[in-house]
Amino acid sequence: MSLPNLFGEVIATDPGYLTQYDWIVINSSGGKDSQAMLDLVCERAKAENVMSRVVVVHADLGRVEWQGTREIAQSQAECYGVPFVAVWRKQGDLLNQIESRGKFPDAARRYCTSDHKRAQVHRLLTRLTDKFRAPYGPYSLKVRPCRILNCLGMRAEESPRRSKMKQMEPDTAASNGRREVTRWLPIHDWKETQVWECIRSCRSKEHIHYAYALGMPRVSCCFCIFAPREALIIAGRHNPELLAEYVRVEEKIGHKFRQNLTMAQVKAAVDAGENPQEVPTWAM
Ligand code: SF4
Repeated sequence: MSLPNLFGEVIATDPGYLTQYDWIVINSSGGKDSQAMLDLVCERAKAENVMSRVVVVHADLGRVEWQGTREIAQSQAECYGVPFVAVWRKQGDLLNQIESRGKFPDAARRYCTSDHKRAQVHRLLTRLTDKFRAPYGPYSLKVRPCRILNCLGMRAEESPRRSKMKQMEPDTAASNGRREVTRWLPIHDWKETQVWECIRSCRSKEHIHYAYALGMPRVSCCFCIFAPREALIIAGRHNPELLAEYVRVEEKIGHKFRQNLTMAQVKAAVDAGENPQEVPTWAM
């Protein structure tokens, strides 16, 4: 479906029939937005009889994500009977990389996302492209590019940056002569209440990530560089060993977790018994 915007431009908001894609890749963090998107995309793929083209991918962040997140994402995928693939950076996890680079990521240098999520998912897209072309053997060069629909759970409400993203557009950075990747944000216009409504009645409703019940509004890295102090304290209360590791790395590299907040200060708050009751969400 294509809709004209305020200026009369036609903006594609919907990928049309899923049958036109060779692969439908659902990026899952195991968090609420991924879970709702998984339901929406799978139900639609089922209606179009293309469930065999759906793959769920989880970018495993290793130690820095909530323990068991990969398993939660997998159990959500299993509720729909679709294959689950975990990908990760082979050179080491995010904390290893911070230690070797000597700097924490920040908004301008967001290598946590580019190196540990995007680049790893692109490797899977390469494998899927190879799989699509494999039956053609030596004639594969003459075959049309593999068409991949790359689905992400970003929502406009989450941040000004995300609100400016198009719901659907060609992903030129992920495309090449062998594959045409279209990025689709199926729940881009959803409010958080819609997300929870969907989850409460979806097939994977028994597999909601436990970090929400601990008070976290978002789930990915335990200590997200954008998270408010309250969220970092809650994460620290439940992940004391990981917090100690962040403090160790921060001291070793001599670079603060954030300009206005150190992990040592977070640990001091946790050690003092601070237990925030209200945690504001944060922009990504
Ligand atoms: S959750 Fe935060 S720290 Fe982790 S990859 Fe995403 S932006 Fe980076």
